[in-house]
Amino acid sequence: MKVFFKTYGCQMNIRDSEIMEELLVRSGHEIVRNLSSADVVVINTCAVRGKSENKAYSLIGRLKKRGLRVGVTGCVAEIALKDLKRRGADFVLGTRALTSIVDAIEGKVDFDMSDHLSDIKEIVTASNISGTYESVTMRTSKRHAWVNIIAGCNKFCTYCVVPYTRGREVSRPMANVIEEVKLLADSGYNQVTFLGQNVDSYGKDLKDETSLAELLRRVYKFENIERFWFLTSYPSDITDELIEVVAERPRISRNFHLPAQSGSNTILNRMNRQYTREEYIELIRKIRSKVEGATIGGDIIVGFPGESDEDFEQTLSLVKEVKYVRLNIAPYSPRQRTVASRLYSDDVPTAVKKKRMATLSKVQHAILLEMNEKLIGKSVNIIVEGKKDGKSYGRTIDNRMVFFEGDVPEGENVKVKIQHATAGPIYGELLGRVLKFVK
Ligand code: SF4
Repeated sequence: MKVFFKTYGCQMNIRDSEIMEELLVRSGHEIVRNLSSADVVVINTCAVRGKSENKAYSLIGRLKKRGLRVGVTGCVAEIALKDLKRRGADFVLGTRALTSIVDAIEGKVDFDMSDHLSDIKEIVTASNISGTYESVTMRTSKRHAWVNIIAGCNKFCTYCVVPYTRGREVSRPMANVIEEVKLLADSGYNQVTFLGQNVDSYGKDLKDETSLAELLRRVYKFENIERFWFLTSYPSDITDELIEVVAERPRISRNFHLPAQSGSNTILNRMNRQYTREEYIELIRKIRSKVEGATIGGDIIVGFPGESDEDFEQTLSLVKEVKYVRLNIAPYSPRQRTVASRLYSDDVPTAVKKKRMATLSKVQHAILLEMNEKLIGKSVNIIVEGKKDGKSYGRTIDNRMVFFEGDVPEGENVKVKIQHATAGPIYGELLGRVLKFVK
């Protein structure tokens, strides 16, 4: 069968889609990149925000009108079974049932397959994190690989549905991760991003020497990997050991993505975030003092229940103080099953949320522009990740997006002289290719 995938949400979802595509190809099905040639469409959904959930619903409606068979996988499949059936989905696969995708596509099981776990052992998924992964065939990129190291989350932030859709933390054995990185290095990959809802929890459930810091130490021997990244971190779980490992190893990204979510201790407490504003700022001070050239990324939720003007001012001042190199700002939307949706009323009016988002974005844009302009005239090392609007682009090791004129294949290391900066991408002139950044 010809199968088209539409993926919403985070990098873990992108990786899940790659895994499902791989299983289908192994079973003789074809993955198509053009919707018009598909027999079946799989929508791999995200439930973190109401907006992405609604996008999936509206896509189901449009596809059903065209008479297509539609399957839904991912986080929405875990929380909205009845809704999905009512909207016409033909099958639903929860986050722990991805390995059943072949049976689902072939129509061998009932509509709801959330509990239908196949016994495929040689693949890593949220339900089978200790599986081994032995192929690179269906990875979207041939040079940059996403590698799952931990699934689920134990934090239970009051606004977040992830612990309900992805379950509790389960770490993947370090030996299997190292084996996969070796395979990737031998297959020509030069960037690896370790993934987890909370990568800093990696290994806690294994009760051995496994940790993110130890993993980075061990995989660093693969010299073909020019850059190691890790996503997403939980601020209070970042250890001194991890900071040290990053500081001492120039092929590990200098960017720490540390979602603050709010700058107000009152709101952090209501969100069940396990740190205070002061502790968060102290962590960033420590990272910056130890890791040369470190940059910080972050996420902020605006309009959490009970967020007063004063709370918002605290967030604004945090953003000014931290100076994020990337910042995702989202309005609060209540998510089913979460503590916040049960305990608190969504009492910040939409207009106030919008106004706060606009204020925050304006401040962040000014900060980013100033930070990016400091790069003008400097040369930076980037690994090319693709082409857009006729320009090649890639990221610096501190996670800034750089565009330049020139047709350079994905995965090549290049030096670019920065000429122009915006509050988003940075533009430069190609100086030349580089064999290895770090000798
Ligand atoms: S740390 Fe909080 S926001 Fe992040 S996945 Fe876990 S519960 Fe959700």
